[in-house]
Amino acid sequence: MLEIKNLHARIAEDGTEIIKGLNLTIQDGEVAAIMGPNGSGKSTLSYILAGREDYEVTEGEIIYNGENILELDAAERAAKGVFLAFQYPVEIPGVATMQFLKVAINEQRKARGEGELSTPDFMRKVKEASAELKIDYEMLKRPLNVGFSGGEKKRAEILQMALLEPKLCVMDETDSGLDIDALKIVADGVNALRAPDRSVMVITHYQRLLDYIVPDTVHVLYKGQIIKTGGKELAHELEANGYADIIGEAA
Ligand code: ADP
Ligand code: MG
Ligand code: MG
Repeated sequence: MLEIKNLHARIAEDGTEIIKGLNLTIQDGEVAAIMGPNGSGKSTLSYILAGREDYEVTEGEIIYNGENILELDAAERAAKGVFLAFQYPVEIPGVATMQFLKVAINEQRKARGEGELSTPDFMRKVKEASAELKIDYEMLKRPLNVGFSGGEKKRAEILQMALLEPKLCVMDETDSGLDIDALKIVADGVNALRAPDRSVMVITHYQRLLDYIVPDTVHVLYKGQIIKTGGKELAHELEANGYADIIGEAA
């Protein structure tokens, strides 16, 4: 699914190198957790995967489903199934959630060279996905995120993710600031999306989310490099002992 080789990247504006020779492989169907102290470059990595233009890759490769995607812009990557979940959902007054979802789907279809989805087909898709994710259909008539509770915002986001049928979901600290109920919504949503041809990169600062989304692999990112890779037990080890030992070992 994803193979990142010797990636070096810097902030376009001032040239500061943030990613410094990062190697990471994620298999089809794998859920990979990326953990690491604040300022390690976790968010930067997610932005670079999504194709944000504020960063420059100076060396290395990102191979996604056999293709080097560094040549593609953000919209082209999204069309190919790369989905980056927003950490802070935007409120869109005056646009019903349903309408927003329809535009999102049709934009993606357009980028793929496919025709617009008919209204009945769209409605059927939304009904199926919301039933599967236990989302109240009535919520979708309200303006996107306006006055939504934390849990409702998360449901709307997970629904959007499900409808776009991504191949690689990148979730950057989606758990930050969530109470336990909202955390479970996110986890149930991600778990429902698990599939042999879909991979998930869960970026998190805390082990807590990984009790609900049990990862296949855990990678520690520190100062722009992956310094340790292990199984789900690595997250528990980090929770118990902190990052200091692993950072010491790597040094
Ligand atoms: P993390 O998500 O692991 O906390 P970030 O990717 O947000 O780390 O940041 C990594 C480092 O890069 C930090 O030192 C941060 O201050 C710096 N950084 C990231 N983006 C920018 C930017 N646009 N301008 C200046 N510094 C940045
Ligand atoms: Mg941070
Ligand atoms: Mg971050």
